Amino acid sequence: MGFGMIATWRMALEGVTCASEMLKNGLKSDECIEKAISMVEDYPFYKSVGYGGLPNENCEVELDSAFMDGNTLAIGAVAGIKNFKNPVSIARKLSEDRFNIFLVGAGAEKFAHENGFERKNMLTERAKKTWKNRLEEIKAKNLSPYDGHDTVGMVCLDKYKNMTTATSTSGLFMKKRGRVGDSPISGSGFYVDSKIGGACATGLGEDIMKGCLSYEVVRLMGEGIQPQQAVEKVISEFSKKLIERRKKAGAISIVCMNHKGEWGVGTNVEFSFVVATEREDAKVYVANQQGDKTTYEEATKEWMDAYEERIKRPIE
Ligand code: ASP
Repeated sequence: MGFGMIATWRMALEGVTCASEMLKNGLKSDECIEKAISMVEDYPFYKSVGYGGLPNENCEVELDSAFMDGNTLAIGAVAGIKNFKNPVSIARKLSEDRFNIFLVGAGAEKFAHENGFERKNMLTERAKKTWKNRLEEIKAKNLSPYDGHDTVGMVCLDKYKNMTTATSTSGLFMKKRGRVGDSPISGSGFYVDSKIGGACATGLGEDIMKGCLSYEVVRLMGEGIQPQQAVEKVISEFSKKLIERRKKAGAISIVCMNHKGEWGVGTNVEFSFVVATEREDAKVYVANQQGDKTTYEEATKEWMDAYEERIKRPIE
């Protein structure tokens, strides 16, 4: 039996590369996905997840994360948690419990403290500068403050057919204190059933949660629809519905993988993602919407170099 992993955004590359080695060596899905997500959380230049994540309007980094086990359907999630190093590990720990599996704010922090999770100030100087600059720009140009968000989400299948999914994000840059998006919400930001497959989402949480889109993709795969068709159908139909009913559809991108390791991607904006399988080393792809379909190709060296330059560009 093969293994596989699919993840949102270029930022997942190092984590997926490491986790796919672990999967190759026979480690299990839950351990591999936690490792992969925590590597993204730890890297200071990824500005929408974990350490270095962009703050809310009060310049506080509030993080959301979830973990789901596709065998037992166990879920753990945290939202609006501050000053802890790896929200995904806290979410995974919560998934072991029968009650109180989704904790927010002070309650999540109390749980993390009592269970020995490492505290860390997650606000970097770079994120603080970005926040200050944005504040000035919003005032000067009278802009909407909300520009910038991305979630790392992954679906993982191991050699023993265990599947997991997990997400982690700092959410919407400049969000109001206490704002929670789709990422820690079951069925919206993520869902997995080891007998079918899993999906996870990134984009404007306020819109993703209007359609419970990750569950919808898994449900369609459960009806026998191929991952690529399932995810394209969900994205295109739901984007149209939003435009019909609300005149606007926010950015929505979803990755999915079924229990055989076949995968799919759907998006209504330009979107990068990472895939590794038994046959393929971890690779970055760039996807785009094309009518009702999503097309993708491997990221070029120029694209990868430009990304590297952009995330590390000095900020005044
Ligand atoms: N979905 C996340 C949120 O709304 C952000 C993102 O994935 O871009 O918090």
